[in-house]
Amino acid sequence: MRCDVLIVGAGIAGSTLSMLLSSRGVDVVQIEARENVVRPHCSGIIGLDAWERLPFRRSSWVIDKIRWAEIISPGGVVLRTDASALVLDREKMDEDISKEAVKRGTDLLTGTRFLGLKGREEAVIMNNTGKKSVKFKFIVGADGAGSSLRKLFHEDIPLLTGVNLATNEGPRNGYIVRVRRGSLFSWIHPRGKIFYSGAIGRGDEAMEWASSQIRQFSRAIGGAIPGRTMRRFVKGNIALIGDSAGQVKPLSRGGVFYIAEASKLLAEEVIRSLEEERNSLAEYERRWWSLFRKEIMLGELMRNMLDSMSNRDIDFLFSMLGEIHGFSTDFQSSSILRGAGAVKSLAIGLRFPFKSAKSILELFLS
Ligand SMILES: Cc1cc2nc3c(=O)[nH]c(=O)nc-3n(C[C@H](O)[C@H](O)[C@H](O)COP(=O)(O)OP(=O)(O)OC[C@H]3O[C@@H](n4cnc5c(N)ncnc54)[C@H](O)[C@@H]3O)c2cc1C
Repeated sequence: MRCDVLIVGAGIAGSTLSMLLSSRGVDVVQIEARENVVRPHCSGIIGLDAWERLPFRRSSWVIDKIRWAEIISPGGVVLRTDASALVLDREKMDEDISKEAVKRGTDLLTGTRFLGLKGREEAVIMNNTGKKSVKFKFIVGADGAGSSLRKLFHEDIPLLTGVNLATNEGPRNGYIVRVRRGSLFSWIHPRGKIFYSGAIGRGDEAMEWASSQIRQFSRAIGGAIPGRTMRRFVKGNIALIGDSAGQVKPLSRGGVFYIAEASKLLAEEVIRSLEEERNSLAEYERRWWSLFRKEIMLGELMRNMLDSMSNRDIDFLFSMLGEIHGFSTDFQSSSILRGAGAVKSLAIGLRFPFKSAKSILELFLS
């Protein structure tokens, strides 16, 4: 088997990219280890900016709206924000995008696993009839948080666990977040007729935190979440996208917004490479980082700062912040800093003279 681009994984990242490439006539083979492309796990919360930037969207995916958020510190200090966001039906979304990719020409092989590379332009894959080889010009690892292709980059990233429990209890129109330890947290949000009570933690603590905030739940879903973004996600003719590249927000760890931009940039650079017969994949990495560098670096500093603080310090930080106006679900870190303002940021920098707090101030003033 031969193709221009072999895409490993049919989650939202792989399917959005396949759809964009197939629309432009690129010969795409996409393989997915599971028999079904729908994998229920995600809260489906995205900001309004992210919604506008999705390369393909259907209004039927929107099942709820968020108009406010309360972030509660370990000791119970409440930080109020005016967050607005949409809650999407991720199962329907992933299914529709994958169907659209196939409609536009993607050759999707489900029940087919990537096993490894044989040289620079050949992959070994396996389905229930045995091993096969696929020749390609470019290969994309869209194979999620536990990516096999990422191993070729020799850059390990830590993995966290995310859990969502479907329940009948929760806040209407709003999002309640409880900081559990450092930058790890639990949440409750509406999802149409039900609510999701979820958490991000290490190992079993996510399930423990998610279940502790409700009386009962009807189903549990979840999966691995990358702990941080890879610094490099292009190597020769190999590119990573989505969770395999750790393209998640440093604070909430949501991935859909970053995937929307990554899929457009990577599609453009693959098409340019094929048309001009030269490899310009490195431009995808450079352009993605130039869009998000400041937001991610700032978010990582904030996260490191939270991780190094005691619960009592976090209570104090929240009481200093009080309220955040103009919170953006998509650009969380920069909107928190903007919402806090220069005076509060300076006061926090003086109260917590960690290296990270100073760096946040430097970024703010730059
Ligand atoms: C509990 C939870 C809540 C979340 N909430 C939000 C949220 O509110 N907002 C938000 O933006 N993000 C959220 N996220 C994150 C978001 O869901 C992910 O960032 C996004 O779905 C990642 O998509 P992906 O396509 O990169 O990876 P995946 O969806 O993991 O897809 C990877 C695919 O690759 C396949 N695969 C793996 N290995 C192989 C192989 N060797 N061969 C072939 N196929 C393979 C897998 O079967 C899988 O289908 C949440 C995540 C969790 C766990």
